[in-house]
Amino acid sequence: TLSDRLNTVFSRLRGRGALGEQDVRDAMREVRVALLEADVALPVARDFIARVTERAVGQEVLKSVTPGQQVIKIVNDELVAMLGGEEESAGEAPPLNLNVTPPAVVMMVGLQGSGKTTSTAKIAKLLKDKQGKKPLMASLDVNRPAAQEQLAVLGEQADVATLPIVPGQQPVEIAKRAMGAAKLQNYDVLLLDTAGRLHVDEALMAEMKAVAGAADPAEVLLVVDSLTGQDAVNVAQSFSGEVPLTGVVLTRMDGDARGGAALSMRAVTGKPIKFAGTGEKLEAIERFHPGRVADRILGMGDVVSLVEKAAETIDAEDAEALAKKMMAGKFDMNDLRKQLQQMQNMGGLGMLAGMMPGMKKAKAAMAGADMDDKVLVHMDAIIGSMTKKERSHPQLLNAKRKKRVAAGSGTSVQEVNKILKMHQEMGRAMKQIRKMGGLKGLAAMFG
Ligand code: GDP
Ligand code: MG
Repeated sequence: TLSDRLNTVFSRLRGRGALGEQDVRDAMREVRVALLEADVALPVARDFIARVTERAVGQEVLKSVTPGQQVIKIVNDELVAMLGGEEESAGEAPPLNLNVTPPAVVMMVGLQGSGKTTSTAKIAKLLKDKQGKKPLMASLDVNRPAAQEQLAVLGEQADVATLPIVPGQQPVEIAKRAMGAAKLQNYDVLLLDTAGRLHVDEALMAEMKAVAGAADPAEVLLVVDSLTGQDAVNVAQSFSGEVPLTGVVLTRMDGDARGGAALSMRAVTGKPIKFAGTGEKLEAIERFHPGRVADRILGMGDVVSLVEKAAETIDAEDAEALAKKMMAGKFDMNDLRKQLQQMQNMGGLGMLAGMMPGMKKAKAAMAGADMDDKVLVHMDAIIGSMTKKERSHPQLLNAKRKKRVAAGSGTSVQEVNKILKMHQEMGRAMKQIRKMGGLKGLAAMFG
């Protein structure tokens, strides 16, 4: 994973305080590969890396995470920012600007098969169900024989009105008729589903321009298939030069889209991604979440939230003190207990394992060994049943004492032994903890 690669790059950095320029450059080479693998367009990737480099060089590394993890967090933050920032996706209302004299016209443009017709119906339904709007849909696709009927069928399914079909009319005529009908019948939103082509051509662009000129749309949404990756960039470039786009709809996000199209799209059009299509059903549409897509692009467990949690939960000085104690062999049951409590604060074992890239194996091992969160609670009870002296000198625990502790904590001698063994192994794992920058090593012991 990218995380492993970055940790390798940064392994020699440990001990130093800030991220150095050469280290960051080496790391960015790995990030670049990850971006290209996610199908991000090359110029976009380049620009992105320049930004991250600028932000990362010289930054202080949090004590409880590795420099690699910290860089991933910076990469993630920049990705989210470039994808539009989290605030854009906050809130429930669809992000369309419909504050114009009704009807507010929403024009859908894009290549054939990108999902325009489906998205038109999805958005109309959303506006009706979630915003109490009264939408009217009209198909301007006179190229494909059944295109207008397709929209009418979807309209029936979504319980949204469609403009009656008049054979022989041209797109601009249909648009004008639709506007007249909307005004007359008090529809407040008019969605225009336009024709596509297999490729961008001049005739298509001329048609889009003419329709936009006649309908004066409040929103022009470019619909692109996220699975087409690099191609989507060319499409976006062509359309954004010709019609005044206000936003993007990314369809087929339910497929194995690697998220690269989203990043490229945003960079090329400069317009926000307003919706993500997530399936064929009419309900399968949602607001675009930059955070989720950033996750996809990085293609790893949620290192980012790990770093965030580490920054919140684990006091850097505390961790350092603990490491020193372990080095000196003074790590006792009180320390183990504190450590276990910290893990619980972070959401328990499963949470921790889920956040670690490459931790699937460890997680499976935990499940196999019955290492669930109940175990953490048991361990706490066991340590709680020890005397103060036993806690700081666990070697005192002979068979008789173990029996007493087991009875006191409602567990078994076997479980008491388990925790003693764990305490012993922590000493051995200490080296690894230092090497891996703390948390990751800690979790590795449970694998
Ligand atoms: P248009 O030619 O741009 O109007 O594309 P359509 O709306 O007719 O969609 C083409 C195909 O893609 C249809 O079979 C849709 O059901 C499907 N489709 C559209 N959006 C999505 C989506 O978000 N996810 C999935 N899986 N399929 C979609
Ligand atoms: Mg269509």
